Amino acid sequence: MSNEPLHVLLIEDSEDDARLVIRELKRGNFTPDWQRVQSEAILRTQLKTAAWDVVIADYRVPELEAPLALKIFQQSQLDIPFIVVSGAIGEKVAVEMMKAGAHDYLMKDDLTRLPEAVRRELREAKVRQQHRNAEILIRRQLAAMEAAIDGIAILQADHHLYMNHSYLKLFGYDQLDELTGQSWKCLYPSKMVDRFENEIFPKLESALSWQGEAIATRKDGTTFVLELSYTLAGGGELVAVCRDITERKQSEKKLKQLNADLMRSNQELEQFAYVASHDLQEPLRKIRNFAELLAQNYQGQMDERADRYISYVTEGATRMQALISDLLSFSCVGRAVLNLKSTSLEMIVQQMTSDLETVIRTRNAVISFENLPTVLADPTRMRQLLQNLISNAIKYCQADVPTVHIRATHDNHTWIISVQDNGIGIDPQYADRIFVIFQRLHHQKDYSGTGIGLAICKKIVELHGGQIWVDSQEGQGSTFSFTLPDSYTITSASQASS
Ligand code: ADP
Repeated sequence: MSNEPLHVLLIEDSEDDARLVIRELKRGNFTPDWQRVQSEAILRTQLKTAAWDVVIADYRVPELEAPLALKIFQQSQLDIPFIVVSGAIGEKVAVEMMKAGAHDYLMKDDLTRLPEAVRRELREAKVRQQHRNAEILIRRQLAAMEAAIDGIAILQADHHLYMNHSYLKLFGYDQLDELTGQSWKCLYPSKMVDRFENEIFPKLESALSWQGEAIATRKDGTTFVLELSYTLAGGGELVAVCRDITERKQSEKKLKQLNADLMRSNQELEQFAYVASHDLQEPLRKIRNFAELLAQNYQGQMDERADRYISYVTEGATRMQALISDLLSFSCVGRAVLNLKSTSLEMIVQQMTSDLETVIRTRNAVISFENLPTVLADPTRMRQLLQNLISNAIKYCQADVPTVHIRATHDNHTWIISVQDNGIGIDPQYADRIFVIFQRLHHQKDYSGTGIGLAICKKIVELHGGQIWVDSQEGQGSTFSFTLPDSYTITSASQASS
């Protein structure tokens, strides 16, 4: 057996007797380090300041007899063995010492069983410590359960063994004894009780826990929706944790209803915009054609004012045609189903530079790009989106060489595509407004347009699950950026919904 270290506090007036005790401990395979005390004050200090494994007290130490030493030891609240050794004292005294709380009593002339007594008492002290720790743990857990906002109960054979305060409150009860010993069945409508007994509890035997929703009944008979979990604990006990989710359920229902209403009204609006713009095209074409015929056939035959009026009609009709055609494309974006494909944004931009060749040449523009990814997207919509952004970047520019740079960065399953220009810039207070349909910041005579391009861009980006925004200052160029979930995210989302 290997030697065990042992810190021994010896209450002993005789150095020789102390050595005797220590020798016995060594013989019993302890490696003791020890301190001898023989006064009350030093005993108090030693108990307070050092970490002892055992106290061994001689019964007869002048001014510090064992009964006094034991009292001082008990005041220190240490739970280590206190063993009394003595010369000849009677059995009665020994019994009294044990009654007072000493752990063992040995005669000085027969110390052979001292090591064994110390070992046994150390073991018992350890067990006592473990019990105390377990008690502390249980007390803490109980305090946590009592403080919990969720209702917690322990059930056994249908009856409540334990309930916290929130559980009582949840079901509308005030006093513990109203439910203690009662069956849980009084808390649910009979249909729910049947479901628990026939469907949920049988599952618990293999799954060990269940979580779901239930309809419950309060003490006053009103019902409410409960989120509830049951967990099988040892000894056939069941732990129930529950919370009232009536309000959450009501808000979810309201939100669903609102979403459905919103979707319906959006669809109706889109339908209206589509039908209106589609049907307006024909009469408008007529107005414009006949106004042009009027101009061709009667120009100069009426007075100057009539000529001016005819040209106003032609201009107005032309502008209205542009507006209506853009409105039609805007409503078409929302109506068509996305045709998701692997789409190279680099190829789209390359192609676009040749599509926009005339504008690029006349405006002396330079278009560059870097890192453009291949994404899962609708290629027609991506073309429309990038074309709007690039055309705007060239249009809203007064520099001799309009410069447009398109780049992409990737972060957390998302691509951010940015179109940066050296144009006239935008006052940040209008950064949101420009994405709203028909909102323009310039007069037609300065920059032509209908105010629909960015609204279409926003719709396309949102249909792809992204967001669009602009960073700009007046006179300092603009950067339009939009996000696109990367292929992995789009693939998983479309797989999940299919
Ligand atoms: P349109 O160009 O037909 O007016 P858009 O919806 O494309 O319509 O743009 C809305 C408004 O946003 C424009 O009228 C313009 O004032 C502003 N804008 C768009 N792009 C830019 C840009 N790159 N630089 C500065 N202003 C811009």
